[in-house]
Amino acid sequence: MKFHRMLTAAAASFTGALAIALLGATPNPAQAQAWPTKAIVLVIPFAAGGPTDVMGRTLSVALTKNLGQSVIVENKVGAGGTIAAAYVAKAAPDGYTFFLHHNGMASSTALYRKLAFNPLTDFEYVSQVADVPMTLLARKDFPAATFQEMIAYVKANKEKINLANAGLGAVSHLCGMLFQQALGVDLQTIPFQGTAPAMNALLGSQVDLMCDQTTQTIPHIKAGSVRFYGVTTKQRIKALPDAPTLSEQGLKDFEMVVWHGIYAPKGTPGDITAKMNTALRAALKDPEVLRRFAELGAEVVPEAKQTPAGLQTWLKSEIDRLGPLIRAAGKFAD
Ligand code: ASP
Repeated sequence: MKFHRMLTAAAASFTGALAIALLGATPNPAQAQAWPTKAIVLVIPFAAGGPTDVMGRTLSVALTKNLGQSVIVENKVGAGGTIAAAYVAKAAPDGYTFFLHHNGMASSTALYRKLAFNPLTDFEYVSQVADVPMTLLARKDFPAATFQEMIAYVKANKEKINLANAGLGAVSHLCGMLFQQALGVDLQTIPFQGTAPAMNALLGSQVDLMCDQTTQTIPHIKAGSVRFYGVTTKQRIKALPDAPTLSEQGLKDFEMVVWHGIYAPKGTPGDITAKMNTALRAALKDPEVLRRFAELGAEVVPEAKQTPAGLQTWLKSEIDRLGPLIRAAGKFAD
């Protein structure tokens, strides 16, 4: 018995040595098969505690469970998400860097004259994730209690009102741009490195207005710590059933939904992105993820969009849609 165990152990260590030798000879396929053998980084392009970060951290818990390795969130902030995108575009395509980003992946192509990455050629696509509505808020002591009062007040005081956002390329910027266009005003904008710090400024009454995703704003709306004027979706949303849309209150056809995708650096092996896709699809069925998403107004996309092609096609269509809209508004960075 003992002898038999020794033989088995010897055979196992021989097989192990052989496997290691083979691994050395053909690193890529063997590595891909074993993936993941160490922690994976999920890059988030905005500050910790904000909407994109909340979504990333919720997913990272489920992905860690599904992949059997830690998925660690890393916040690479600045320039409306473009610093993170440029970082991921140049990261090693070894399967240990992934990226969660939203509409900014498309809008930044029109907003920046020079961009250090190309969303259509520098990435591999994993999947779309979930859609999130936005909300229009003001500081609690803003002198307009209702939507109509707010519109009148903004129009009458446009030179002294400011609008917080997370920089050029952020959805808070895009939503604020559409809002200003709809009212025919040009407000002072104050960029932050994410809407978590922008929310702190709003709560401290250092800024006046802000558009932001429900994933951050719902707790503040429910606590009554901000003024809340409506949601940016076509229809009212389940997470805030009594809240009117901006469109039904008079900003005709005002619609903005924040969509999200998961990317990897170009050249990441296809079998790794496929495994990440499988782990993500399972995460999008995880009861804890679904509970958290429902409470924060995030809606998982249909399964047809949970594919690399689903994300790639959508991204391309958003670049085509947003380009003319942004160019018409004439807002550019250098
Ligand atoms: N809500 C942000 C945006 O406006 C980003 C964030 O902090 O998640 O894009």
